[in-house]
Parts: sequence; structure tokens; C-alpha cells
Amino acid sequence: MKLKDEISVLKGIGPKKKKAFNKRGIFTLEDLIWNFPVKYEDRRTIHPISKKLQGREVLVSGKVISRRYGGNPYMKNVPVSFLIQGDGEMMEAVYFNAKYMANTLKINEDYVFFGKMTENHGRLQMVHPMAAMRGSDEDVRGVFPVYKKIDGISQKEIRSYLNLILPLVEDIKEWLPKKVITENRIADCKFAIENIHFPAGSKSVLMAKYRFIFEELLALQTGLLYMKRDEGCENSGINFDISEADEFITSLDFDFTKGQKKVWEEISSDLKGNKAMNRLVQGDVGSGKTVIAETAIYTSFKSGYQSAMMAPTEILSKQHFFSLKRDFDKFGVNVKLLVGSMKASEKRDILSGLRSGEIDVIVGTHALIQKDVEFRRLGLVITDEQHRFGVEQRYKLSVKGERPNVLVMTATPIPRTLAVILYGELDISIIDTMPAGRKKIRTIACSKEQRKSVYKKIKGEMDSGHQVYVVAPLIEDSEAVDAKSAETVYKELKRLYKPHRVELLHGNLSQEEKDSVMESFVAGDIQVLVATVVIEIGINVPNATVMVIENCERFGLAQMHQLRGRVGRGDDASYCYLILNKETEVAKKRVDILCGNSDGFDIAEEDLKLRGPGEIFGTKQHGLPEMHIADIIRHKEILEKSKEIASDILNRDSSLSSDENRELRRRVEKMFGEDINLKL
Ligand code: ADP
Ligand code: MG
Repeated sequence: MKLKDEISVLKGIGPKKKKAFNKRGIFTLEDLIWNFPVKYEDRRTIHPISKKLQGREVLVSGKVISRRYGGNPYMKNVPVSFLIQGDGEMMEAVYFNAKYMANTLKINEDYVFFGKMTENHGRLQMVHPMAAMRGSDEDVRGVFPVYKKIDGISQKEIRSYLNLILPLVEDIKEWLPKKVITENRIADCKFAIENIHFPAGSKSVLMAKYRFIFEELLALQTGLLYMKRDEGCENSGINFDISEADEFITSLDFDFTKGQKKVWEEISSDLKGNKAMNRLVQGDVGSGKTVIAETAIYTSFKSGYQSAMMAPTEILSKQHFFSLKRDFDKFGVNVKLLVGSMKASEKRDILSGLRSGEIDVIVGTHALIQKDVEFRRLGLVITDEQHRFGVEQRYKLSVKGERPNVLVMTATPIPRTLAVILYGELDISIIDTMPAGRKKIRTIACSKEQRKSVYKKIKGEMDSGHQVYVVAPLIEDSEAVDAKSAETVYKELKRLYKPHRVELLHGNLSQEEKDSVMESFVAGDIQVLVATVVIEIGINVPNATVMVIENCERFGLAQMHQLRGRVGRGDDASYCYLILNKETEVAKKRVDILCGNSDGFDIAEEDLKLRGPGEIFGTKQHGLPEMHIADIIRHKEILEKSKEIASDILNRDSSLSSDENRELRRRVEKMFGEDINLKL
């Protein structure tokens, strides 16, 4: 047997079981080894039978004093129950559909039982406990791993497979450098794997877990630090001439808000200094981040550098592109757009323009980080709505320049600790004011029953020339989920609002279809846009005054706040209707938070109180690679320690090319994807 062998080499694993394993992502013996237990059953101590054990999974012992059949005697599988006398108290052991048990347990013999202690009609009870004769209880006693459920395969089987293949750990290479292991007294890989499956005791489980949390976080930190160093936040040599920024700022038809002024000052002092900028700008939806980015781009242009601005969707990229063109045309800045859906010939022209330096500013989606995109002199890199990007994507864009200035923009507040992990020692600027004259958006919660009257009321807005967004959680109806689909709502409203034009926008449409719907909405030809969350970010239609969110219990608070931010962008009063389908306590509380707060940061904080950090700041939302065992919030201390160690390793071997670090490098590449390209 070898690690890379398919699991079907194991005796007893036929096509059906193989499929069940595959469904869980387990294909090879190695995968099975890496399938760690989710918990353990501690069956070491025998407890006296007692009421105090209720609700716990425990091992008890006692003598079988009687046997009783229940139910209908003509049933094929009659339940059988045994009365067990412990030291003091009695309990009942019940087996359903298990006639054979009747002869397995003998009256007047002593047994040990493992199961969950419950109470039934005042009597202690275990349903389907595991049982073994006292004295020959090796199979029942000990610490046993419990794995994620795999269809049709019992825990016992999984354990026996693991027992069989565990000797293969000899072939697994240790990937932590020796020095790290000894200096930090960390369990080696062999010990850790063996003990995470079949722990010798509770201390060895802890050591094994610690080892895996540690190594996962070390790989994370090493990868992040590696990218950080390569991006370079020390001396960049790129200093922008910011003296002409005012020329751009005064060309706008509004003045900067106080918050924008402050943030621009912070950015400009980075840009003129020797240190490359690495700054995160947080600002609520509508606070005016784009124009700050534009000002920075303008100084980059004036200093002879190219700039790149990356946004997560085509719609948003296009909108930025049009704003930039509008604001920059008079200054002769050559702005171009690069998105996936463009024709090959168009792309070719853009790529050559970027290489020659003829293009000054490029706006686009992930298309910007493709290998063939090269710049002549990239001096400024901006990512909008950063939480939509993986850290390695941002990195790929910035290494297209020689340590360019980096600006990251987000409307999603990130706690300081997490921000530092994500960006290293970055600086944070906050736009804490809103442009003057913004009307507060009235947010109104309604029940399922009020739904119809809400839609009738909204008609008035359309009659006075305004536009409406309606967001639903699903594209089409699904039996599995009790929620309104965009398609159903669309059909309904089309009928109701005739002759106003109602259109549908969702992720399954082709790019062209999406664009054409979006463009007609922006132009005011469509009155009602029924959509899924594809419209969540960025788009700007000041004439839209109503946002309706269907099944609002299915959306995140921050997400709904973003959605709400699509209205209230013009001079007219705006409304946001939250339609609750299921009125649970939590759902109502969440709606109250939105109704009572208009500040995204406050909302995030309330959300945090309601849900706890783990759920909100999951790695997924913030672009970190997925962690299997570590939790960056809960294991903060290990995270900090691993950062020091990662930094130490990279100080001595900046490309992880020494023999000692080779395996660690593989581990990092596996985590971030090989194309982060750790140099040899
Ligand atoms: P966000 O921070 O959500 O990205 P935008 O940059 O899209 O916000 O700005 C929203 C709208 O506010 C845009 O139409 C923009 O032109 C306008 N805006 C930005 N700054 C100001 C300001 N200081 N005064 C008035 N309007 C502004
Ligand atoms: Mg924006």
C-alpha cells in the first residue's frame, strides 16, 4: 500500500463505499489520513450509574437483571430492553430493531455500556448503547475518534481502515523545519498524525491539535509575509509629485468632505515619501471613495506612472471606467477597460498599450492579473471592494510593478487584528463623513402579510418617475428552500406594474444580457429591476429611490446595508423595505438593527454582538485561504507566534530554497496556489 493509492485498495471498500468516500473529498489513502476526527469519545473511566450523568456520553457498568420485549410481539423487530443494576441506581438499556441483542446480553452477568444517558418516564436510560462483557471490554474502552459522517460507513469501519493504513505515516515527510520543531517543542508530524486519530491520552491529543493549528498558521503567515516582502513596503523609490493634485480636486463639481480631506492628506503624505504606500481606506457606501482613488491616480499620471484599478465584477469595473473617463478626459489621461468578456482583438490592443505605456490607467476585473498583462511603469495599484479578492490576487496585481503604491478600498469594516493579518503592517484611513445633502433612507420592516400593500404603495414612486430595485435571495424557485425567487417576483410585478417596464437581472444571464439590462436601468428605461445580489456592490443610479429586500432573513446585515446604499443617492427621499418571511427572534432583531442604524460601522458592530466573530469574519469573506483546523480569531496567540517564526525563517532564507525549508515551501504553495511563485 502506498499513500497515493485509491481507497478502494482497502479490503471491504467496493464501488458504493468508494463513492461515499469520494463525496467527502476522500480519494486516496493519504486523504483518509488527513481526514481528522471531529471529536473523541472518552471511554476510559467507568462511572457509577447516576442521575448526574444525564445528557452525557459515558461509560457505565452494571449487572443485567431482567429482559423485556416491548411493542407488538408479531413485529419482525421487537424492541428489547434490559434492566441494569449498577452500584446504586438502575438503568434501562434499549435496543430497537435488534432482536439478536436478546441473546447477546446474559442475565446476571456484568457488562460495561457506552452511550448517552437520558431519562424516560423517570428512569435512566441508554438507547442502543455499545456493550461488552466486563473484563473483555478492550473494544469498548479507551479514547475513540469520531469522524464526519460518511454515508453507509460506520465509525467502527472508518477506525479500522485507519488502523490499517496508519503505518503509512512513515512515508509522510516532515515539512516543518527541524529547528522550529525543537525550539518550540512542537510534536513532529508522525506523532501528531498518529495521536490525532488514536490518542494515547488527552495530553497527546492536545499536542497533536496544537501541531496542526500551528503548522497551518505558520504556512499562512509564511505565505503572507513572503508576498508582503515581495510587494515591498520599505523603500520603493517611487515618489509621486502631488503638487498638482489640487488641479484635479478643483475640477470636480463638489468639495471634498471633511473625511475625504483627511484621508487624502494621509494618502498624499505616503505618496510623496520614499516608503511605498500600503493603505486601506474604509468608508461606508456612498462616502466617496472613488474620487479619492481618482485623485491618487491623477498624481500617478502626473508623475509619469501607470495605474491599475481592479474591481470584482464587470458591472462595477465599467462604472468605474466611465467615472474615470468622465473626470479625466479633460486632462488627456488615457483610460482603458479590460474585462474577460472583451473580444480577443480588443484585448490584444489593450495589452500592447499597457506594455508600451500608451495607456495611463487600466480599470478591470480579475482579467488584470492574467499572466500576459504587463506594464511599462506601474506605479499605483488600487483594489476596490477588497474583501471580494483573495490576498494572492491582490499580490499578483502589485508584482506587475516595481513595488508600486498600493491602495485598498472597502466598505466592509475589518477588525484591526484581522486587517494586520491580511495586509501586514498596513495603514488604515477612514472616511467618516458623508457628502452633504444626503437624505436619510427610511427603512421599514414588513411582514409577509404586508407585502402586497408595500408593492402597491411603491407604484406611486414609479408614477412620479423614480426607479425601484427588488432583491430576492434565489434565482428560481427551489423546493429545498422556502424563499421567494427573483423569477417569481419578476412575473408577479410585471403583471402588477403594467405598463411600467420590469426587468430581471441575475448571475445566470450572459454578460451581454446583464450589461444590456444594467445599461437600460441606468438610462432610466427600466422602472423596476428585480435582481439577485449581483447588484450588491457599486452601481450608482441616483434616480432609484426604493430598495425592496425579499426574505430579508436570508441576507447578512452588512450585505443588506450595502444593498440599501444603492438608493438615497439623489436629492429625493428614499425608502428601503425589508420583507420578513420568517419572523424569528434573531431575524426581528437584525431587522431592528438596520432600521435603527444608518452607519455601516455601527451595523457591523451590532452584527458582531449578535453573531460572534467566527461567523462574520470567516476567512472566506476576507480572501484568506481556507483553514482546516485553525481559526484566526480563536487562535490569535498561535497566529502571532507563527508570524514571528515565519519572519525569522524568511529572514534567513527569503525564498525558502534551502533543503531545510523545501517542504515548508511546498506546504505554502499548496495553501496559496502554486502560481504565487515562490522563487527558487
Ligand atoms: P463609495 O464610497 O460607495 O465608493 P462613490 O465613490 O461611488 O462612493 O460616491 C458616491 C457618489 O457620491 C458619487 O456619485 C460621487 O460622485 C459622489 N460624491 C463623492 N464625493 C462627494 C462630495 N464630497 N460631495 C458630493 N458628492 C460626492
Ligand atoms: Mg465604491
